[in-house]
Amino acid sequence: GREVHLVARPEGWPTPADFALREVTVPRPGPGQVVVRNLYLSVDPYMRGRMNDAESYVPPFRLDHVMEGGAVGRVVASEAEGLAPGDVVLHGLGWREYAVLDADRATRVDPELAPLTAYLGVLGLTGLTAYVGLLQAASFRAGDTVFVSGAAGAVGSVVGQIARLRGARRVVGSAGSAEKVRLLTERYGFDAAFNYKDGPVREQLAAALPEGVDVYFDNVGGEHLEAAIALANKGARMALCGAISQYNEAGEPVGPRNLARAIGWHIRLEGFLASDYPEQRGEFLREAAAWLRDGELVHDETVVDGIEHAVDAFLDMLRGRNIGKMLVRLPES
Ligand code: NDP
Repeated sequence: GREVHLVARPEGWPTPADFALREVTVPRPGPGQVVVRNLYLSVDPYMRGRMNDAESYVPPFRLDHVMEGGAVGRVVASEAEGLAPGDVVLHGLGWREYAVLDADRATRVDPELAPLTAYLGVLGLTGLTAYVGLLQAASFRAGDTVFVSGAAGAVGSVVGQIARLRGARRVVGSAGSAEKVRLLTERYGFDAAFNYKDGPVREQLAAALPEGVDVYFDNVGGEHLEAAIALANKGARMALCGAISQYNEAGEPVGPRNLARAIGWHIRLEGFLASDYPEQRGEFLREAAAWLRDGELVHDETVVDGIEHAVDAFLDMLRGRNIGKMLVRLPES
């Protein structure tokens, strides 16, 4: 089987030369293990951070080793109780065609309940991130105005829709192309949207949300966060989910320079990880599955075929060439 290795630590933007596609022998499963043929690989922004040799909430990828990441695949051999060939599982050994892992590190998923891709996106990590970030970290309440950056992405598109479903007063999103801006209002139900590349974020946000910001869901950091602080209403709450504008910057990150405004305006900024809220997962799955079934929640995926294009898919996602969740599809055999 083939797998993608990290062979050099990128500084700034990663390039294809930082990765290698290598052929390896798939080991036989030991007792309690299964062999999984991966069908979908997830490529995610946080993986950029793992390419640096820096302390973080997840350890760095090792050089000349396969990278890890979310994947869904079919069990093709099993030495474990409870999992049989043909079962479909979600697990953390992506970026490879075949994964050999302990059965207790694989979660069986139901292909009848939802398409397999949903388990890596809207019903998986990115959907959960949207749900707990908005409802828990930002303490969203009905009647709030909401601003979402990265709004046409996997997390952002779901945040905007949940805010609307839960009774937001007005939902505004920003994204990086005219096509995405159109999707935000026409498909995801945002009340207004703008392209952050068209002009200063602060001016465009002020025009789109004259009522001011009660809740900001931050996927981007930098100028976006500064604009949200500048236009925050008293008691505003900001969920710090990601800072993708900084992930490929080699120098020191630029701040929000106006953080002192948080004092007198009682602005709360709360960093969070989806994994902080394991007790919310059941409720999230029930509610999101019902919204999907009733057509109240829509989601998009950008799917790239072939493990040989996994690095391109990852780089394209960082460049904004995805709409919704970016995934890599592998053939069944
Ligand atoms: P997306 O599907 O949103 O893909 C990334 C998007 O980021 C691109 O499509 C691009 O869209 C946008 N982007 C890239 N560079 C910039 C920039 N300089 N300024 C503004 N936007 C930019 O990815 P995810 O939904 O998976 O992740 C979104 C955010 O959530 C990330 O910051 C990620 O790190 C974070 N995250 C956090 C989790 C947590 O537990 N806290 C869990 C999962 C994700 P565009 O065309 O609009 O520029």
